[in-house]
Parts: sequence; structure tokens; C-alpha cells
Amino acid sequence: MNYSCCDVHTHTLYSRHAYSTIAENITEAADKGLELLGSADHFSSMLYGEPYDVKDFQYFLNMRAWPRTWKGVVLLRGAEADIVDLDGNLFGHNIALDSGITGASYDGAQTLKDLVFDELDYVVASIHNRSFARGATLAQTTQMYINALHDPKVQVLGHLGRANVPFDVDEVLFCAKDLGKLIEINEHTLSDQQQFSESCQHIAQRAAEIGTQIVVSSDAHICTAIGGFDTVHTMLKAIHFPEELVATRSAQAFLTSLEQSGVMPHATQPL
Ligand SMILES: [Zn+2]
Ligand SMILES: [Zn+2]
Repeated sequence: MNYSCCDVHTHTLYSRHAYSTIAENITEAADKGLELLGSADHFSSMLYGEPYDVKDFQYFLNMRAWPRTWKGVVLLRGAEADIVDLDGNLFGHNIALDSGITGASYDGAQTLKDLVFDELDYVVASIHNRSFARGATLAQTTQMYINALHDPKVQVLGHLGRANVPFDVDEVLFCAKDLGKLIEINEHTLSDQQQFSESCQHIAQRAAEIGTQIVVSSDAHICTAIGGFDTVHTMLKAIHFPEELVATRSAQAFLTSLEQSGVMPHATQPL
């Protein structure tokens, strides 16, 4: 059983409460024998507050400077974007920009989200501040996740098991399956926040029964945590989770999922 050839939810120093560079993360990934690393720093109001300035987000705008393969590891350009409302909108969708990082004006008005997402291979959509969902109905929170899944750049719903926002698990998993998108089982949650173990396991169990693909990821905030999946592996083995539903079982499997969902249309071609 092999659940762990890719780590597609990892953070660098850019996330402000994370501690390693992209080079340190890649070195760790290579040392641990990973085939693919996805860097997914926070795209969120956690990093910078209002008034938002595009200069604070330029980290995402030059990711094409990164090698596509580094130390033998395929490197993907991602972000972990906050879901910010019950419509499933993602951070930056309502932040209009009229000028770029040099101060020169843009021709057409665009949003911070569009500007950043254009540079990314894929997005992990997660909730970190659930205050907007207090008092919401199950129908509303379920539709919120379904709407987020329909974003053309979203490939993964992040740490659903610990968002503490109740939703209809089956409906969201069926939607992810239909769209060829993925549900994350998050090592950081299972190893450090055991109060959510039951909800994570329930989501994994239903994914196995419905046939929805998952990703196993570390959510590493320091390089030493890259590729660490022990707690998730133990749980998945205990429930006999089928390896063929783990999109992170190989680089090829994850890239194929990105291609089939249309998030990264030529992902399996040489990058
Ligand atoms: Zn997160
Ligand atoms: Zn994260």
C-alpha cells in the first residue's frame, strides 16, 4: 500500500506562520523520495489586512521563476485559498485592482483573485475563519462547498474534517467525484487535533464507499514535516482505504487528476 509519493499542501515562509523556503521544502521532498511537491501558501486575509495591496501578494505572481523539476521532484505552483462566504467565494474575489506591483495601471479592472489564480497550477480551498457560517443551514454550507469545487482552479477541498462547519458529506463527495476533484485527508489535523479524528475518518470512509478520490497531505509549515503522513496512513490502513482512490499515490496519478478535471489541462505533458 502506497499513499505517499506526493505532498500537495505545503507552506513556505511566505505564509508568515511557516518557517522554510521553497528550496528547503524541495530538498526535504527529494530526501524523502517524493515524486511531486505542491507548494500551497495561504491566499488569505491571515497574511495581510485591509487595505489590500497587490505588492503583498507578488510572491504568487512570479512562480514561473521556479523550476518545473527540482532535485528530481516535480514542483507545482499552488495556493491554499480561503473560502470566505456561504456562496463559496474565495479570498480576493471582491478585491478590485487598478494598478500592478510597479504602480502602473492595468488596462481592464481585475480582481486580486483572478490575477493570482492565473499564475497557479491548482488551488486548495479551505475554511480558516468560519464566522461567516455561524447559523447557516446544512443546505447552505453544502452548497458553499459545491460552489467552491466548481471554481475552475480548485482541485482540492482542504481539511474538511476540521473546519467545524457541518455539511452534507455525501453530497459534497458525490460532487467532487463528478467533477474529478479531490478531498484532502490532512496529516496536521489528524496528528495534532485529535478531536477531529472521527470526522476525518468518516469523510475517508464515505469517500471509499462513494468512489471519490482523496489526497493525503502534510500541510507542512516547516520542511521537516514535508512528506510526513504516518497518522493518516494508519487511519487509512485501518479502514482498508483503496489505494486507487488516493490521487497522491504517484505523481502520474495526481497530474492525471489535474488534467481530467480540467484544472491543468496539459498536466501530464512534459511541464
Ligand atoms: Zn489550512
Ligand atoms: Zn495549510
